[in-house]
Amino acid sequence: MAEPSPDTIRSIAHEIGFDVVRFGPADPGEHAAHFLRWLEQERHGTMRYLADNRERIQDPSRWRAGVRSTIALAVDYGGPAAALPDGGRVARYAVGRDYHRWLRDRVFSLRERLEAAGVAYGSMNGGADAVPVLERALAVRAGIGFLAKSAMVISPTHGPYLQLAELLTGMDLPFDAPAAGSCGTCTACLDACPTGAITAPFQVDARRCLSYTTIELRGFVPTELRQPQGQWLFGCDVCLEVCPFTRKSARLHERDAARPRDLQPHRIVQTWTLVDVLAMDEARYQSEFVGTAMRRATRSGLRRNAAVALGNRGDDAALPPLFIALRDDDPIVRGHAAWAIAAIDPRRPELETALATETEPLVQAELQAALARR
Ligand code: SF4
Ligand code: SF4
Repeated sequence: MAEPSPDTIRSIAHEIGFDVVRFGPADPGEHAAHFLRWLEQERHGTMRYLADNRERIQDPSRWRAGVRSTIALAVDYGGPAAALPDGGRVARYAVGRDYHRWLRDRVFSLRERLEAAGVAYGSMNGGADAVPVLERALAVRAGIGFLAKSAMVISPTHGPYLQLAELLTGMDLPFDAPAAGSCGTCTACLDACPTGAITAPFQVDARRCLSYTTIELRGFVPTELRQPQGQWLFGCDVCLEVCPFTRKSARLHERDAARPRDLQPHRIVQTWTLVDVLAMDEARYQSEFVGTAMRRATRSGLRRNAAVALGNRGDDAALPPLFIALRDDDPIVRGHAAWAIAAIDPRRPELETALATETEPLVQAELQAALARR
């Protein structure tokens, strides 16, 4: 059977739910060198999987010999700001069903449909957020969008809220032209980033980025990054929200049931509060967070983030659950609860009481720092 035409491939991908479909080379070109410099500067923080995938990122043919082209894919997930009923923020991409699952389902479905349409069985490799740096490079080279100063890919037709995926193929597909557009003189994302993580145009220090500290980072959040975290429980959308290209998203004003099923807000986002997150036990975490992208932050990380957000809110009503958190089994929760209590009211005697019995040195240090804020 003959291979499907480029138009047929595009139309199948659109039917499956991809908003942007482009064809490009199967290697990241000059972006590989940028990525290596970024790794050398240790800007990936503790995301070791990026360093561990260094070879494959530079040369996707190490995934599968004989790849000649990329079918680059993007889904526009733009939408209204997502917040828990009490204002705790969740990055838009994480409010619905775990995007790893639905994106992977779509990529697998595309692969199956293309195999049924005549592409050699087993000749394609699909990915969805497997290695984000590679994904962005392949997307830019295929013309999905241009590389923005925020280091994100921006589609001139759909904006910056893009979930990227790709299918590496052995087909000789006609490559699309690079996407039109650029950031021009805009610096809105650099100016608005609450932590200064965008250190220069196109340069993001992941170690300072809330998308890293609230999700990937295990353990204690550097003290200077806690107040800038604001109300973010999981991720951060600030550099996307301020971007003038957001208005290109066709879904920007689409709410709740009007959105595709996979993008509809999860009941956690609709009904939980930050205090619920802080207080959740392991059984509740296991039963409620299954199937959400928020699980990636781990129960400990989510509770830590909730404590920081409650401290930033500065509301006395959060003190009783934070006092309980001072006696938690998890030292990370105890330490961030101490920080949050001090952010609300450092004169509270519960801090001294906790220090008198605390045995973990890192938490002792947090309690001492909290008391020093008096
Ligand atoms: S996600 Fe937030 S913290 Fe990270 S670069 Fe963007 S604005 Fe800064
Ligand atoms: S906010 Fe401005 S500088 Fe930043 S990505 Fe958008 S257009 Fe580019």
